[in-house]
Formats: sequence, C-alpha cells, structure tokens
Amino acid sequence: MEAITCSNCKSDLRTEDVFCSECGYPERGTDIEKNNFERRIILKKRVVKDAEKKVDSVRIMLYILAGLNIVIGTYYVFLSGDEFLFIDGIAALITGIVFIGCAIWVNNQPLTGVMAAFIFWIVLQILAAIVDPASIFSGILLKIVIIGVFIKGINSAKDAVKYSEQLASMKVK
Ligand SMILES: [Zn+2]
Repeated sequence: MEAITCSNCKSDLRTEDVFCSECGYPERGTDIEKNNFERRIILKKRVVKDAEKKVDSVRIMLYILAGLNIVIGTYYVFLSGDEFLFIDGIAALITGIVFIGCAIWVNNQPLTGVMAAFIFWIVLQILAAIVDPASIFSGILLKIVIIGVFIKGINSAKDAVKYSEQLASMKVK
C-alpha cells in the first residue's frame, strides 16, 4: 500500500491505516463505510442547524420582551406624567436593557446566554409574585410558552455544542 493523504482532512495516513487517525475517515474502507461517514456529517450538520434555529427563537423572544419593556418603561417615565408610575417605568427600562444584553449574550455564548436569560426571567416572575401574588396566574399560558421556549433553547444549545464538537473531531468546519 502506498502512502496517501486522507480525502476528508488531508492529513498523511500511515501505510497500514484503514481509518484516518486524525478524523476517522475510512480512507481504505469500503464505499459503504465512506458513505456512512459522509452521512454522519450531514446528519450532525442538520442537528446543529436545527438547534441554532431554536436558539435563535430564544433570541427573538428576548428582543420582543425587551421591546415591550422599553415601550412600557418609556411611556411610564416620559409620557404618562404619573409620578407613581415613574419607579415602575425605570424598572421596565432596566429590564428591557437586561433582556437586550441577554440576547447579545445568547448570540455569543448560546448555552450560558439562554440559561442566564431564563434565570433572569424567573427572578422577574418571583419579584412580581412578591409584589402581587395574584400575578403568578396572570398570563399563565404565555408564561408556559415562554418557559417552553427557554427549555427548548437550553437543550438545543447543548445539542449545538455537542454536535459541533463531534464535527470538529471529524475535521469538518
Ligand atoms: Zn482525516
């Protein structure tokens, strides 16, 4: 057997190697083994893409929450002229800014970003419940949807990391 390079990652193979020691490609394997390797790459890429889409939906949700808080906060602070709403308005503006920060965080570090946003959102619900216990049940369906998006986002971010690592070990960019 002559010395050859791996057709997947271009590293040199030792003459006795069937599988590339760098990426696992069955350079001297059967066509079925080569097809399987390529199919695994396609499947993993698809999982990563799907996972990134779900993480994206968390990001969009955070921007919507941020937008709502900023609109309400702006109205309370600058337009309502009601001094009793001023503190609420400031709180809403800060909340909106934190949600934007979380969305940017999700963009840079999906897993920690989604978890941080989820924790922040839970803290907000707890604070609201302390101020007004009845608030727990207001918009309960929407809250369940939001929790669902967060949990899906966390699982998807984990999947994206896991499968990206597997692709990296297969020398796929
Ligand atoms: Zn290789």
